[in-house]
Amino acid sequence: MMKVTIFGTGYVGLVTGACLAEMGNHVVCVDIDTAKVERLKRGEIPIFEPGLESIVRRNHAGGRLDFTTDAAPAIAHAEVVFIAVGTPPDEDGSADLQYVLAVAGTIGRHLDRYAVVVNKSTVPVGTADRVREAVAVELAARHAAVEFDVVSNPEFLKEGAAVDDCLRPDRIIVGASSTRAVAVLRKLYAPFNRNHDRMVVMDERSAELTKYAANAMLATKISFMNEIANIAERVGADVELVRQGIGSDPRIGYHFIYPGAGYGGSCFPKDVQALERTAHSYGYEARLLGAVEAVNRQQKTKLFELISYHFNGALAGKTIALWGLAFKPNTDDMREASSRQLMEALWSVGAKVRAFDPEAREETHRLYGDRDDLVLCEHASDALHGADVLAVVTEWKAFRSPDFAAIRAALAKPAIFDGRNLYEPATVEEAGLAYYGIGRGRSL
Ligand code: NAD
Repeated sequence: MMKVTIFGTGYVGLVTGACLAEMGNHVVCVDIDTAKVERLKRGEIPIFEPGLESIVRRNHAGGRLDFTTDAAPAIAHAEVVFIAVGTPPDEDGSADLQYVLAVAGTIGRHLDRYAVVVNKSTVPVGTADRVREAVAVELAARHAAVEFDVVSNPEFLKEGAAVDDCLRPDRIIVGASSTRAVAVLRKLYAPFNRNHDRMVVMDERSAELTKYAANAMLATKISFMNEIANIAERVGADVELVRQGIGSDPRIGYHFIYPGAGYGGSCFPKDVQALERTAHSYGYEARLLGAVEAVNRQQKTKLFELISYHFNGALAGKTIALWGLAFKPNTDDMREASSRQLMEALWSVGAKVRAFDPEAREETHRLYGDRDDLVLCEHASDALHGADVLAVVTEWKAFRSPDFAAIRAALAKPAIFDGRNLYEPATVEEAGLAYYGIGRGRSL
């Protein structure tokens, strides 16, 4: 059993805290958001993440997982202190480190014995040094001779499968220059590391870059396939067949080569941009990363363009049913979601939206409030009533095999805009609906 404190109870901090508690450690989660901490204490989970509620409740009830806004006792408690706060984009796209450095300062103000400070937030190369400095400055200010180490331990969990990813990580990246700190992390991660050694130990800078490189590679795969889709629709090819054709090459593989309505979420857009900014600040223009972003920006306008084409640009007064609001299935996260761009574009030309999402309705309401041109529906079928056409934006499983006849009957101008290529065009067309997909042999 180890004593662990985690700053930040968002997707990363809360999941990490719950999983470390599940392995028998005593975990204290600290957040500055009082309302969030109060909810967590009552057993309410502020985010939707499969499997998270039960693991949080079980470990909270078992006394292994506590929540607080009080940093001082939480730091005094810990052998290992995680930083898992947000690193949103700054005005110029670089990562804003104010929350990370604020936590580092807090740690320095309260640390009174050796601890390992572990940075889990996604941060630019060199941040471990800045965290070390921020802790040291505060220790020096109170003349405290306390030893500590800073380790970079980027997180690779996927929203929607975060608990599973955390309990069964593909790899555990540990960037450290202290053998003492590596030994502490080996002990902490031993229960996650039994089947084979997943821990890759490296220097801090390489660890920090590993996280950005991973996300940039994944974003590149998506933009690459969207580029191929855009070519496919112009040359009369079906990108879904092309996808299967190239995926069969094991050097390419089937994973993560789905074309669609663009990538969103809290990580890919900001991390690609931040890596580009880092490269720029070192005098290197990362042209590939710039292109990945540009393709994605354009792709996020795709559904609107298709809908606008269908209506000859006359969208004022039209009602669009939307299935899927979250940036991907199995989450309620709406950060940078393609649905937002689509809805905002539709509203700007006087169209209305009737939307359904299994989990993200509350978050959508929090973002947009009550407005005449948005109805958040309780069921997928409700979204169709009074709508002209249907756009599918998120590939929730529940949308995969709908009753096309019922969709046709409900819509005034039966057409499906399939932003994730979920359906066979022929099946949809046989049911009497017009079909628009992404890169499926039809050029505008
Ligand atoms: P989040 O926005 O969901 O949560 C961040 C939390 O930190 C919030 O609850 C906020 O109140 C809290 N916080 C801010 N300042 C604080 C302080 N001084 N003390 C205590 N708490 C404070 O963020 P997230 O999605 O969990 O991401 C956290 C980091 O992990 C980011 O750097 C992100 O890029 C990275 N990351 C995220 C994911 C993901 O899928 N969300 C995956 C891997 C890595």
